[in-house]
Amino acid sequence: MAADTKGALCVGLVCLDIIYSVDHYPKEDEDIRASGQKWAKGGNAANTLSVLVQLEKTQEEGEKRPCELLSTLGGGIETDYVLAELDESRIDHAHCRVYSSQKLPTSFVLLNTSNGSRTIIHHRNLPELKFEDFKSLDLSKYNWIHFEGRNPDETVAMVRHIRQSPYSPVVSIELEKKRPELLVLAGLADVLFLSKEHASYHGYQSPEETCLKFRDKAKENAILICAWGERGAVAMDATGELCKSDAFPPPGGLVDTLGAGDTFNAGVIHKLMRGVPLHEAIVFGCKIAGIKCGREGFYNLT
Ligand code: ADP
Repeated sequence: MAADTKGALCVGLVCLDIIYSVDHYPKEDEDIRASGQKWAKGGNAANTLSVLVQLEKTQEEGEKRPCELLSTLGGGIETDYVLAELDESRIDHAHCRVYSSQKLPTSFVLLNTSNGSRTIIHHRNLPELKFEDFKSLDLSKYNWIHFEGRNPDETVAMVRHIRQSPYSPVVSIELEKKRPELLVLAGLADVLFLSKEHASYHGYQSPEETCLKFRDKAKENAILICAWGERGAVAMDATGELCKSDAFPPPGGLVDTLGAGDTFNAGVIHKLMRGVPLHEAIVFGCKIAGIKCGREGFYNLT
Protein backbone atom coordinates (compact mmCIF):
# COMPACT_ATOMS: atom_id res chain seq x y z
CA MET A 1 0.00 0.00 0.00
CA ALA A 2 1.39 3.46 -0.90
CA ALA A 3 2.46 5.42 2.17
CA ASP A 4 0.09 8.30 1.46
CA THR A 5 -3.01 6.13 1.37
CA LYS A 6 -2.34 4.56 4.75
CA GLY A 7 -4.64 5.49 7.57
CA ALA A 8 -4.82 6.24 11.26
CA LEU A 9 -5.75 3.73 13.94
CA CYS A 10 -6.82 4.78 17.42
CA VAL A 11 -6.64 2.14 20.14
CA GLY A 12 -8.66 2.77 23.26
CA LEU A 13 -12.11 3.32 24.54
CA VAL A 14 -15.50 3.82 22.97
CA CYS A 15 -18.34 4.23 25.42
CA LEU A 16 -21.79 5.75 25.61
CA ASP A 17 -21.86 9.28 27.01
CA ILE A 18 -25.15 10.20 28.68
CA ILE A 19 -24.94 13.97 28.83
CA TYR A 20 -27.14 16.22 30.97
CA SER A 21 -26.82 19.97 30.35
CA VAL A 22 -27.38 22.00 33.51
CA ASP A 23 -27.09 25.74 34.19
CA HIS A 24 -25.09 25.19 37.37
CA TYR A 25 -23.32 22.37 39.10
CA PRO A 26 -25.79 20.93 41.63
CA LYS A 27 -25.24 20.76 45.35
CA GLU A 28 -25.52 17.33 46.98
CA ASP A 29 -29.17 16.35 47.45
CA GLU A 30 -30.38 19.25 45.24
CA ASP A 31 -33.22 18.55 42.77
CA ILE A 32 -32.61 20.42 39.51
CA ARG A 33 -33.86 20.29 35.95
CA ALA A 34 -31.55 19.76 32.96
CA SER A 35 -31.97 21.98 29.88
CA GLY A 36 -30.95 19.07 27.65
CA GLN A 37 -30.19 15.37 27.69
CA LYS A 38 -28.58 13.32 24.96
CA TRP A 39 -26.70 10.16 24.19
CA ALA A 40 -23.47 10.31 22.21
CA LYS A 41 -20.56 8.05 21.52
CA GLY A 42 -17.66 8.95 23.79
CA GLY A 43 -14.35 7.66 25.06
CA ASN A 44 -10.96 9.17 24.26
CA ALA A 45 -10.16 7.06 21.21
CA ALA A 46 -13.64 7.48 19.68
CA ASN A 47 -13.62 11.24 20.34
CA THR A 48 -10.22 11.67 18.73
CA LEU A 49 -11.45 9.75 15.68
CA SER A 50 -14.65 11.83 15.46
CA VAL A 51 -12.48 14.88 14.90
CA LEU A 52 -9.79 13.19 12.82
CA VAL A 53 -12.33 11.82 10.38
CA GLN A 54 -13.79 15.31 9.83
CA LEU A 55 -10.34 16.77 9.24
CA GLU A 56 -9.57 14.03 6.74
CA LYS A 57 -12.87 14.61 4.95
CA THR A 58 -12.21 18.31 4.42
CA GLN A 59 -8.58 17.81 3.45
CA GLU A 60 -8.15 19.55 0.10
CA GLU A 61 -4.74 18.32 -0.96
CA GLY A 62 -3.37 14.79 -0.98
CA GLU A 63 -5.05 11.68 0.21
CA LYS A 64 -7.90 11.53 2.69
CA ARG A 65 -6.79 8.90 5.16
CA PRO A 66 -9.10 6.18 6.48
CA CYS A 67 -9.71 6.23 10.24
CA GLU A 68 -10.18 3.12 12.34
CA LEU A 69 -11.05 2.36 15.95
CA LEU A 70 -9.80 -0.64 17.91
CA SER A 71 -11.71 -1.10 21.12
CA THR A 72 -13.78 -3.65 22.96
CA LEU A 73 -17.55 -3.51 22.39
CA GLY A 74 -20.46 -4.94 24.32
CA GLY A 75 -23.99 -5.82 23.25
CA GLY A 76 -27.37 -4.20 23.87
CA ILE A 77 -28.87 -0.85 22.97
CA GLU A 78 -25.91 1.19 24.19
CA THR A 79 -23.62 -0.60 21.77
CA ASP A 80 -26.17 -0.39 18.93
CA TYR A 81 -26.40 3.36 19.42
CA VAL A 82 -22.65 3.84 19.42
CA LEU A 83 -22.16 1.59 16.38
CA ALA A 84 -24.74 3.62 14.44
CA GLU A 85 -22.82 6.81 15.27
CA LEU A 86 -19.50 5.25 14.28
CA ASP A 87 -21.01 4.13 10.97
CA GLU A 88 -22.51 7.54 10.34
CA SER A 89 -19.11 9.13 10.97
CA ARG A 90 -17.44 6.55 8.70
CA ILE A 91 -15.15 5.30 11.44
CA ASP A 92 -14.14 1.73 10.70
CA HIS A 93 -14.71 -0.57 13.68
CA ALA A 94 -14.44 -3.92 11.91
CA HIS A 95 -11.65 -5.24 14.11
CA CYS A 96 -13.15 -4.34 17.48
CA ARG A 97 -13.49 -7.24 19.93
CA VAL A 98 -17.14 -7.85 20.76
CA TYR A 99 -18.40 -9.24 24.09
CA SER A 100 -22.05 -9.41 23.14
CA SER A 101 -23.33 -10.55 26.54
CA GLN A 102 -21.71 -7.58 28.31
CA LYS A 103 -22.65 -3.91 28.47
CA LEU A 104 -20.72 -1.11 26.84
CA PRO A 105 -19.07 1.25 29.37
CA THR A 106 -21.04 4.43 30.07
CA SER A 107 -20.04 7.91 31.14
CA PHE A 108 -22.60 10.02 32.93
CA VAL A 109 -21.65 13.61 32.13
CA LEU A 110 -22.91 16.78 33.82
CA LEU A 111 -22.26 19.61 31.40
CA ASN A 112 -22.40 23.00 33.09
CA THR A 113 -23.56 25.38 30.34
CA SER A 114 -22.55 28.47 32.35
CA ASN A 115 -18.83 27.67 32.09
CA GLY A 116 -18.49 24.59 29.84
CA SER A 117 -17.14 22.37 32.66
CA ARG A 118 -17.82 18.67 32.42
CA THR A 119 -18.07 16.37 35.41
CA ILE A 120 -17.79 12.71 34.50
CA ILE A 121 -18.80 9.52 36.30
CA HIS A 122 -17.59 6.51 34.37
CA HIS A 123 -18.73 2.94 34.76
CA ARG A 124 -17.31 -0.14 33.10
CA ASN A 125 -17.09 -3.83 33.57
CA LEU A 126 -16.29 -4.73 29.98
CA PRO A 127 -12.92 -6.45 29.53
CA GLU A 128 -10.08 -4.25 28.27
CA LEU A 129 -8.55 -4.78 24.85
CA LYS A 130 -5.87 -7.45 24.81
CA PHE A 131 -2.77 -8.01 22.73
CA GLU A 132 -4.60 -11.02 21.24
CA ASP A 133 -7.15 -8.59 19.77
CA PHE A 134 -4.41 -6.45 18.27
CA LYS A 135 -1.97 -8.94 16.84
CA SER A 136 -4.06 -9.99 13.85
CA LEU A 137 -4.27 -6.42 12.45
CA ASP A 138 -2.63 -5.80 9.10
CA LEU A 139 -0.08 -3.19 10.18
CA SER A 140 0.73 -2.30 6.57
CA LYS A 141 -2.55 -0.31 6.52
CA TYR A 142 -1.53 2.38 9.00
CA ASN A 143 0.92 5.21 9.00
CA TRP A 144 -0.14 6.39 12.49
CA ILE A 145 -1.27 4.36 15.50
CA HIS A 146 -2.47 6.31 18.51
CA PHE A 147 -2.90 4.64 21.89
CA GLU A 148 -5.17 6.16 24.48
CA GLY A 149 -2.76 4.98 27.18
CA ARG A 150 -4.65 2.43 29.25
CA ASN A 151 -4.11 -1.17 30.20
CA PRO A 152 -0.29 -0.82 30.17
CA ASP A 153 0.81 -4.47 30.04
CA GLU A 154 -1.24 -5.21 26.94
CA THR A 155 -0.28 -1.89 25.35
CA VAL A 156 3.42 -2.63 25.87
CA ALA A 157 2.92 -5.94 24.00
CA MET A 158 1.07 -4.15 21.17
CA VAL A 159 3.80 -1.56 20.70
CA ARG A 160 6.51 -4.24 20.84
CA HIS A 161 4.63 -6.09 18.10
CA ILE A 162 4.57 -2.94 15.94
CA ARG A 163 8.31 -2.36 16.45
CA GLN A 164 9.09 -5.96 15.51
CA SER A 165 7.00 -5.78 12.34
CA PRO A 166 8.39 -4.71 8.96
CA TYR A 167 6.21 -1.57 9.15
CA SER A 168 6.95 1.65 10.92
CA PRO A 169 3.80 3.62 11.63
CA VAL A 170 4.28 6.56 13.97
CA VAL A 171 3.24 5.47 17.47
CA SER A 172 1.65 8.12 19.67
CA ILE A 173 0.52 7.52 23.23
CA GLU A 174 -1.39 9.76 25.59
CA LEU A 175 -0.80 9.65 29.32
CA GLU A 176 -4.01 11.23 30.54
CA LYS A 177 -5.26 9.71 33.76
CA LYS A 178 -3.66 9.99 37.18
CA ARG A 179 -2.38 6.43 37.19
CA PRO A 180 1.22 5.63 38.13
CA GLU A 181 1.18 2.38 36.15
CA LEU A 182 0.90 4.38 32.89
CA LEU A 183 4.46 5.62 33.25
CA VAL A 184 5.80 2.44 31.66
CA LEU A 185 4.27 3.66 28.38
CA ALA A 186 6.19 6.95 28.34
CA GLY A 187 9.31 5.42 26.81
CA LEU A 188 7.47 3.72 23.95
CA ALA A 189 5.98 6.57 21.94
CA ASP A 190 7.40 8.50 19.01
CA VAL A 191 4.92 11.23 19.97
CA LEU A 192 4.00 11.42 23.65
CA PHE A 193 0.90 13.39 24.63
CA LEU A 194 0.84 14.41 28.30
CA SER A 195 -2.33 15.77 29.82
CA LYS A 196 -2.52 18.46 32.46
CA GLU A 197 -4.22 15.90 34.71
CA HIS A 198 -1.36 13.42 34.39
CA ALA A 199 1.26 16.18 34.76
CA SER A 200 -0.42 17.52 37.91
CA TYR A 201 -0.35 14.02 39.34
CA HIS A 202 3.47 14.17 39.09
CA GLY A 203 3.41 17.59 40.74
CA TYR A 204 4.38 19.50 37.59
CA GLN A 205 3.01 23.02 37.46
CA SER A 206 3.22 23.97 33.80
CA PRO A 207 3.34 22.37 30.33
CA GLU A 208 6.96 23.55 29.92
CA GLU A 209 8.00 21.84 33.16
CA THR A 210 6.09 18.70 32.14
CA CYS A 211 7.92 18.41 28.80
CA LEU A 212 11.30 19.07 30.44
CA LYS A 213 10.74 16.56 33.25
CA PHE A 214 9.39 13.88 30.92
CA ARG A 215 12.29 14.16 28.49
CA ASP A 216 14.38 11.52 30.23
CA LYS A 217 11.36 9.23 30.65
CA ALA A 218 10.54 9.40 26.93
CA LYS A 219 12.00 7.49 24.00
CA GLU A 220 15.10 8.99 22.42
CA ASN A 221 14.14 11.59 19.80
CA ALA A 222 10.51 11.52 20.84
CA ILE A 223 8.26 14.54 20.45
CA LEU A 224 6.53 15.56 23.69
CA ILE A 225 3.28 17.52 23.68
CA CYS A 226 1.42 18.88 26.67
CA ALA A 227 -1.96 20.67 26.43
CA TRP A 228 -2.97 22.81 29.38
CA GLY A 229 -6.57 24.01 29.09
CA GLU A 230 -6.92 27.77 28.69
CA ARG A 231 -3.12 28.14 28.73
CA GLY A 232 -2.83 26.41 25.35
CA ALA A 233 -0.10 23.86 24.71
CA VAL A 234 3.65 23.33 24.67
CA ALA A 235 5.68 20.87 22.62
CA MET A 236 9.28 19.71 22.69
CA ASP A 237 10.95 18.48 19.52
CA ALA A 238 13.54 15.72 19.17
CA THR A 239 16.37 18.19 19.87
CA GLY A 240 14.78 19.33 23.13
CA GLU A 241 13.62 22.70 21.79
CA LEU A 242 10.32 23.97 23.17
CA CYS A 243 7.57 25.71 21.25
CA LYS A 244 4.25 27.05 22.50
CA SER A 245 0.76 27.88 21.33
CA ASP A 246 -1.74 30.07 23.12
CA ALA A 247 -5.29 28.78 23.46
CA PHE A 248 -8.01 30.18 21.20
CA PRO A 249 -10.98 30.81 23.48
CA PRO A 250 -14.28 30.65 21.57
CA PRO A 251 -15.59 34.18 20.92
CA GLY A 252 -19.07 33.29 22.19
CA GLY A 253 -17.74 31.81 25.46
CA LEU A 254 -17.17 28.27 26.67
CA VAL A 255 -20.03 25.89 25.99
CA ASP A 256 -18.62 22.36 26.24
CA THR A 257 -15.07 21.32 27.14
CA LEU A 258 -15.83 17.58 27.09
CA GLY A 259 -13.19 16.04 24.83
CA ALA A 260 -11.16 19.25 24.32
CA GLY A 261 -7.98 17.25 24.83
CA ASP A 262 -9.07 14.54 22.37
CA THR A 263 -9.88 17.24 19.83
CA PHE A 264 -6.46 18.84 20.35
CA ASN A 265 -4.78 15.45 19.85
CA ALA A 266 -6.71 14.84 16.62
CA GLY A 267 -5.71 18.25 15.24
CA VAL A 268 -2.05 17.63 16.03
CA ILE A 269 -2.05 14.08 14.64
CA HIS A 270 -3.76 15.26 11.44
CA LYS A 271 -1.03 17.84 10.85
CA LEU A 272 1.96 15.74 11.92
CA MET A 273 0.76 12.88 9.67
CA ARG A 274 1.30 15.30 6.79
CA GLY A 275 4.74 16.40 7.89
CA VAL A 276 3.64 19.85 9.07
CA PRO A 277 6.15 21.47 11.49
CA LEU A 278 5.51 20.82 15.18
CA HIS A 279 4.74 24.41 16.13
CA GLU A 280 2.17 24.74 13.36
CA ALA A 281 0.63 21.43 14.41
CA ILE A 282 0.07 22.48 18.04
CA VAL A 283 -1.31 25.87 16.98
CA PHE A 284 -3.79 24.01 14.76
CA GLY A 285 -4.61 21.63 17.62
CA CYS A 286 -5.37 24.59 19.92
CA LYS A 287 -7.48 26.28 17.22
CA ILE A 288 -9.66 23.24 16.58
CA ALA A 289 -9.95 22.54 20.33
CA GLY A 290 -10.98 26.18 20.85
CA ILE A 291 -13.72 25.82 18.23
CA LYS A 292 -14.89 22.63 19.96
CA CYS A 293 -15.06 24.37 23.35
CA GLY A 294 -17.47 26.88 21.83
CA ARG A 295 -20.05 24.29 20.80
CA GLU A 296 -21.67 21.13 22.07
CA GLY A 297 -20.31 17.84 20.82
CA PHE A 298 -17.84 17.09 18.06
CA TYR A 299 -19.79 17.78 14.90
CA ASN A 300 -19.20 20.49 12.27
CA LEU A 301 -15.82 21.52 13.61
CA THR A 302 -14.31 22.10 10.17
P1 ADP B 1 -8.69 17.86 28.56
O1 ADP B 1 -9.01 18.41 29.92
O2 ADP B 1 -9.90 17.51 27.73
O3 ADP B 1 -7.65 16.77 28.57
P2 ADP B 1 -7.30 20.38 28.12
O4 ADP B 1 -8.08 21.11 29.17
O5 ADP B 1 -5.86 20.21 28.41
O6 ADP B 1 -8.00 19.03 27.71
O7 ADP B 1 -7.43 21.22 26.77
C1 ADP B 1 -6.94 20.77 25.53
C2 ADP B 1 -6.90 21.97 24.60
O8 ADP B 1 -8.23 22.49 24.46
C3 ADP B 1 -6.07 23.14 25.14
O9 ADP B 1 -4.72 23.03 24.69
C4 ADP B 1 -6.76 24.33 24.53
O10 ADP B 1 -6.27 24.56 23.23
C5 ADP B 1 -8.22 23.89 24.44
N1 ADP B 1 -8.95 24.40 25.62
C6 ADP B 1 -9.32 23.72 26.71
N2 ADP B 1 -9.95 24.51 27.61
C7 ADP B 1 -9.98 25.73 27.03
C8 ADP B 1 -10.48 27.00 27.43
N3 ADP B 1 -11.06 27.17 28.63
N4 ADP B 1 -10.33 28.03 26.56
C9 ADP B 1 -9.74 27.88 25.37
N5 ADP B 1 -9.24 26.71 24.93
C10 ADP B 1 -9.34 25.67 25.75
